[in-house]
Amino acid sequence: MGRVMTQGTITETDLIMMERCIELSKAARTYGEFPFAAIVCDEQGIVSEAINRVARDTDVTRHAELIALSEAQRVLHRPDLTGCTLYSSVEPCPMCSFPIRETRISRVVFAIRSPLMGGFSKFKVLQDMEMSNVMPEFFGDPPNIIGGVLVQKAENVWRNCNPIIWAVIRYRGCFGGDPDPNLCLHWQGPNRSHRFNWHQIAQRMIATASRLRGQPTEPRRLENQTTSPAADREFRPEPD
Ligand SMILES: [Zn+2]
Repeated sequence: MGRVMTQGTITETDLIMMERCIELSKAARTYGEFPFAAIVCDEQGIVSEAINRVARDTDVTRHAELIALSEAQRVLHRPDLTGCTLYSSVEPCPMCSFPIRETRISRVVFAIRSPLMGGFSKFKVLQDMEMSNVMPEFFGDPPNIIGGVLVQKAENVWRNCNPIIWAVIRYRGCFGGDPDPNLCLHWQGPNRSHRFNWHQIAQRMIATASRLRGQPTEPRRLENQTTSPAADREFRPEPD
């Protein structure tokens, strides 16, 4: 697992879907929205696609990624989006990154980096291992990340949308700023094959709690409690 700059891991499908995503972001201006767009795909093709609805709904939470994830769950009739890829014209923010982890999306592919607000570049939600180690019943393992795909095309949409706003965004370092726009960011998730199950989690909790307390694994009576609340807060199940 690691972060490397590479050019060789983007598929033909990634390029086609990102082209479409950027076209969608261009269309967002027609509706008075900033050029954000997202697409969810599985192995059969597009499951859902969306642009922001922030302006139209007067609702700051209506990001394209969240709308696309919700729609994908509805279309597939399941909350788990394992095996799916999320394409986004801009790196997902932290608000969108938590549901990405909860839906267990396998890959996230975006065009423009978000060094100030990104759920990968800044706030580390997309790559955090502790969430899925401690709460595997809620959070999937970090997805594979590819950033900077067709970034110049995506940035052109923003520039053409409003050159002054784009200049301010760039001046402030909010979006963009890839070290080399011809190379993509590739971050490989852990790709662990395990899926959580309650029996496995219970076994881990019993074993770890017993080790922390230096006691055998048999259930204890409450009056034999010897540890402090602080010791309980420090509990962490072991990863595989
Ligand atoms: Zn967002």
